[in-house]
Amino acid sequence: MTWRVTVLTLFPEMFPGPLGVSLAGKALASGLWALEARDIRHSATDRHRSVDDTPAGGGLGMVLRADVLAAAIDASDVAPDRPRLLMSPRGRPLTQSRVMELAAGLGPLIVCGRFEGVDQRVIEARRLEEVSLGDYVLSGGEIAAMALLDACIRLLPGVMGKLASGADESFSDGLLEYPQYTRPQAFEGRPIPDILLSGDHARVAAWRLAEAEALTKARRPDLWAAAAKARQKRPKNTTDG
Ligand code: SAH
Repeated sequence: MTWRVTVLTLFPEMFPGPLGVSLAGKALASGLWALEARDIRHSATDRHRSVDDTPAGGGLGMVLRADVLAAAIDASDVAPDRPRLLMSPRGRPLTQSRVMELAAGLGPLIVCGRFEGVDQRVIEARRLEEVSLGDYVLSGGEIAAMALLDACIRLLPGVMGKLASGADESFSDGLLEYPQYTRPQAFEGRPIPDILLSGDHARVAAWRLAEAEALTKARRPDLWAAAAKARQKRPKNTTDG
């Protein structure tokens, strides 16, 4: 089934952009996912097609109007059971587990903010889920939406072929990924670790797990603590699978 995405933006010409090449682009061309980028400005009603206005209470910049944005959402005619996301630095930071949920579900509607953001009332009235890309401020939601979509699309069935599950990657088990190597066997005097050339799959797997754990502990104590907690909660007599 095609994973359908509807993006509401003031800059529809930015799409599919980078999502039109490589893995995502091929998947788009072959119909594994579909994209509709809709111009919020088409829902403006006044003579000047204005979509924004000055912030109530004063201050710098402009705010996207609730009525215009609500009209754009309603006109997109997106089924109510599809996720409705608003890219926003105030949202819950995007995680791989949320990406997996989104990829497994019906494709989302994604609202891209601009200027100082959007009128609070439309977030409430249209039940938009605010999603953040991280603790920094972009000038618009488009690049954030593309990053979210890229992360989802590579997980869609058929997009990555044999790699489809992404099961071995960073975050899939709460750990960062182990270091990767490929040819040449020696690079500027640095050899590939012997174990990886040993052909002993059990020892390779053990080495990779140990490396992933050491990396996670050193670089991301927050992830390490969460992974340790998850391990504790798991009943002792069950195995992963
Ligand atoms: N004044 C706002 C920032 C607005 S930036 C504030 O301080 O919260 C303009 C738009 O860019 C936002 O409406 C949002 O859609 C997008 N954006 C900016 N940073 C983002 C981030 N970290 N994650 C997701 N979207 C972001």
